[in-house]
Amino acid sequence: MDCIFCKIIDGSIPSKKVYEDEAVYAFHDINPLAPVHVLVIPKMHIDSMDKVSADNAEYVKKVFLAIPKIAEELGLKNGYRLISNCGEDGCQSVKHLHFHILGGKKLEEKLVSRFGLKCFVPFHQD
Ligand code: 5GP
Ligand code: ZN
Repeated sequence: MDCIFCKIIDGSIPSKKVYEDEAVYAFHDINPLAPVHVLVIPKMHIDSMDKVSADNAEYVKKVFLAIPKIAEELGLKNGYRLISNCGEDGCQSVKHLHFHILGGKKLEEKLVSRFGLKCFVPFHQD
């Protein structure tokens, strides 16, 4: 499958690993948007949040169980933000389910203007 995150998992694309277990892989984002910006992915290819189902929920559960451990390893004692962009409107660019951990500083309150700028369209109420 032509998926860059599957290639990161199998090592054919290099990455800066921060965590790995039998079901989960986490690595530094190549284009960090915060002092700490890590992507957490299931090793099993799932396209997006929309494709989570009873058949693959066990893998997603393992991702969520790993996230607090990863955050602790990253020293995010004061909190962090967890984001999963889904589909076209969510501006998902890599079609392998992933969770962004963003932290290392007090983040902006306005999630959309800071993080979703590339597809943010102002909404006018007339
Ligand atoms: P999305 O926009 O799909 O929510 O997030 C995809 C993320 O993957 C982006 O933040 C982007 O910087 C990151 N990314 C894309 N290609 C690579 C890569 O080859 N290596 C790493 N480490 N991150 C990548
Ligand atoms: Zn994949």
